Amino acid sequence: MHVIPHPTWIEVDLAQFQRNVAAIRKRIGKRLFCLPVKANGYGHGLVGIGRAAEAAGIDYLGVSCLQEGIELRRAGVQIPILIFGGIHEEQIPFCIEEALDVTVSSRFKAELIAKACEAVGRFCRIHVKVDTGMRRVGVRVESAEELIRFIKEQRLLDLVGIYSHFATAEEPEDPTAKAQLEQFLQLKEKVKMPCLWHMANSGGVVFYPESHLDMVRPGLLVYGYWPNEQRVEEVAPILTLKAKVSYFKVVPKGAGISYGHRYRTREVSRVATVPIGYGDGFRRAFSKGGSVLIRGKRYPIAGSICMDQFMVDLGSGEAYVGDEVVLIGKQGKEEISLWDLVRISDSIPHEVLTLFNERIPRRYIYSKSESMILT
Ligand SMILES: *Cc1c(COP(=O)(O)O)cnc(C)c1O
Repeated sequence: MHVIPHPTWIEVDLAQFQRNVAAIRKRIGKRLFCLPVKANGYGHGLVGIGRAAEAAGIDYLGVSCLQEGIELRRAGVQIPILIFGGIHEEQIPFCIEEALDVTVSSRFKAELIAKACEAVGRFCRIHVKVDTGMRRVGVRVESAEELIRFIKEQRLLDLVGIYSHFATAEEPEDPTAKAQLEQFLQLKEKVKMPCLWHMANSGGVVFYPESHLDMVRPGLLVYGYWPNEQRVEEVAPILTLKAKVSYFKVVPKGAGISYGHRYRTREVSRVATVPIGYGDGFRRAFSKGGSVLIRGKRYPIAGSICMDQFMVDLGSGEAYVGDEVVLIGKQGKEEISLWDLVRISDSIPHEVLTLFNERIPRRYIYSKSESMILT
């Protein structure tokens, strides 16, 4: 494969990905497994993760919008793909054409889709979204049955699923999560519609086994993280963010570094330059308190992160141009966890993972000796 060499990249460990999938399979038994790959596969690469998921026997992919679904189809992914977000009228023909499952939360949209199906004489696969408390998209529980029956009656609407989404499932025994689940189960009992009923995100998979139903949709957990700093033992992160030292110099004591000279050396120091910046998604907010690993040692980021580069104060430490720098992940005995960056920037793991943009190539590692670069 022809690839343009780039000194900053994300490595995705697909062997660990498969172990994560297998570990979650153990929890869910024979239920269908939908993997959310929205936002560029939580930063791991949409197509790379989509293909790996299909190969790992994942049953369904979840995307946020039409363009993600089309990109997966164009890459040859054939398993069902559900678009979680609301679909817009002008997007409907594309969903039909590309056999993408559409989320419907209103009769208005259902009618538009039915009309578009009639125009081309083709089916559209529908999942009805029910709002049990997230208040994002979804028909109200009281109106859900009517909408479900309406869709069922349409000749070319294929009612594939009915689903809801937790707002607070990261804690066990959470009253809101329990109330949401209760409402959804009552609806299921009432309408008795044979289709895929699904609700569980990562929190649901771990803490609310009664929410597993016909299909689960854990995202963060499959990528090896948990929404708070607690660890889930059976999964591990699959992403490492790396770069190569692009420049090295020695500066005097008291030298200001980077824009605004917000950092000054305390002694004669060796300084390395790393070719990644906020223009790649490595946020300026990581400047203060951030660190990197070089030759197995941890060094502080020196001064403000620039658009495309930043500096590291090595003190009297050693580094050569071309040395590998780890910004997230392990090197030797040291580790910089995603959580270090989450804490520094007052964020959440989902957000930090999705910062890294298309300028950073993704490299998929199947085993120690084999890798493949995709963007
Ligand atoms: C993102 C998303 C998920 C996955 O959530 P995690 O917290 O990553 O497990 C599941 N369902 C829907 C509808 C989503 O949008």
